[in-house]
Amino acid sequence: MRQCMVADPRCRLYENPRTGHLRSAALPYENRGLAGRGRTGGILAVVDTINPAGARVERRAGDAMALVVMKFGGTSVANVERIRNVAAHVKREVDAGNKVAVVVSAMAGATNQLVAWVNEASPLHDKREYDAVVASGEQVTAGLTAIVLQSMGLKARSWSGWQVPIETSDAHGAARILNVPGDELRAAIESGEVAVITGFQGIDPETGRVSTLGRGGSDTSAVAVAVALNADVCDIYTDVDGVYTTDPRIVSKARRLPKVSYEEMLEMASSGSKVLQTRSVELAMVHGMRTRVLSSFVAPDQMQAVTLDNLDTIGTTVCSEDEIVEQQVVSGIAYAKDEAKVTLLKVDDKPGIAARIFGPLADASINVDMIVQNVAADGNATDMTFTVQAAELTRALAVIEAAKKDIGHFDVKASDGVAKISVIGVGMRSHAGVAARMFQALAEKGINILAISTSEIKISVLIDAAYAELAVRTLHTLYGLDAD
Ligand code: ADP
Ligand code: ASP
Ligand code: MG
Repeated sequence: MRQCMVADPRCRLYENPRTGHLRSAALPYENRGLAGRGRTGGILAVVDTINPAGARVERRAGDAMALVVMKFGGTSVANVERIRNVAAHVKREVDAGNKVAVVVSAMAGATNQLVAWVNEASPLHDKREYDAVVASGEQVTAGLTAIVLQSMGLKARSWSGWQVPIETSDAHGAARILNVPGDELRAAIESGEVAVITGFQGIDPETGRVSTLGRGGSDTSAVAVAVALNADVCDIYTDVDGVYTTDPRIVSKARRLPKVSYEEMLEMASSGSKVLQTRSVELAMVHGMRTRVLSSFVAPDQMQAVTLDNLDTIGTTVCSEDEIVEQQVVSGIAYAKDEAKVTLLKVDDKPGIAARIFGPLADASINVDMIVQNVAADGNATDMTFTVQAAELTRALAVIEAAKKDIGHFDVKASDGVAKISVIGVGMRSHAGVAARMFQALAEKGINILAISTSEIKISVLIDAAYAELAVRTLHTLYGLDAD
């Protein structure tokens, strides 16, 4: 990676692996005036340290071979039969002469079971032990995938997070990838071996303890490995054949997007479209890693092996905005049902109170999303409402209770029956009235808005969870996204 000649030292030039052109990598998200919004602000400083310099797997002039990272999610590796299907996808690439690193999730449902056991053991547990338990699902699938690949005559071995190593921060349960040295991994891939890497897990190099990257984190493992190896493409195989205008399981009229910009995908992911984990999109954006969403449910022999010039023919390519010719005002609708709302009633209305509430929550690595502070009616006390993920509600309430002596008096009201609906599109930068139409359409369906937040390219509303699907369908039709 070369430094670019601009004032911001974090701006980098990268070489497009397809065209060889040098271009500026996207600026970190936090520099786009969006810091602190959603769950994505301000976490990029660390990811720049995944340094692909010198990491490129050697290629000879005229060599059409590509270096491909193939990630398979839980439903794609749900049992040994599905793993055989995954192995056939991998074999197709190897047979075509491509170098392959595979990243696998745990079997569908396995991580949920592990999380449930941890919570049954103790709802307020040591996060390092949580990681020790929940990281185990990926180890099973990585080993099984390597065994099946070997049984097909391929050279393959499994790699755990600590073996690569995928070095992370110490934020157990939601760790950030800091560095992927991976020299040994690279050597193995160069020798023609398929490297099967456990997604979701890494190691805190300071303590040597196993860490995990947050739910859905295998996507982030895959992009990080792709960046470290300077791969040509990072293919995320899942149970849908691309990114749609909204979750195709909720709206049958959703349309597949052939391309989606990093920024829109980032907003969709951070607003609840779990097809890609938010941090994976941030990493892809910062490093300009071409990332595709593909279906593993298409028969392996019905798909062409990757070549450097057929990358955009299937699935959805997540790429820079200027590659997208026809840009809609609204590209997608996202929803997050797993939200919880906390209201602190009658908090003192004076400087420093917000810091005393949100400081301890941040220290406990609890992501706060929307924040609404009411105008103090009597000039002394105010109500402060914020949202967290429903799974974090118990911890958030415990943290607030522990900070009560600093915050002063308040009463608490909490509920987890709320959903966040978000409308996303880069076209919003230049079109007015998107929000007004949204509010009007929801009003016509009798849906009450509890909180609103916006970014340059997104409007989110918090509503009663019972109306989530109705709201998504209504807005999908409103902005002309329904398939014919
Ligand atoms: P995996 O186990 O492969 O990681 P996930 O369940 O995490 O798969 O993500 C895939 C799911 O994401 C799909 O089954 C789909 O229901 C959901 N999804 C939500 N929003 C979208 C969207 N806009 N486009 C495609 N899929 C979406
Ligand atoms: N197995 C982990 C999870 O269920 C990671 C992943 O699937 O990406 O969250
Ligand atoms: Mg996933």
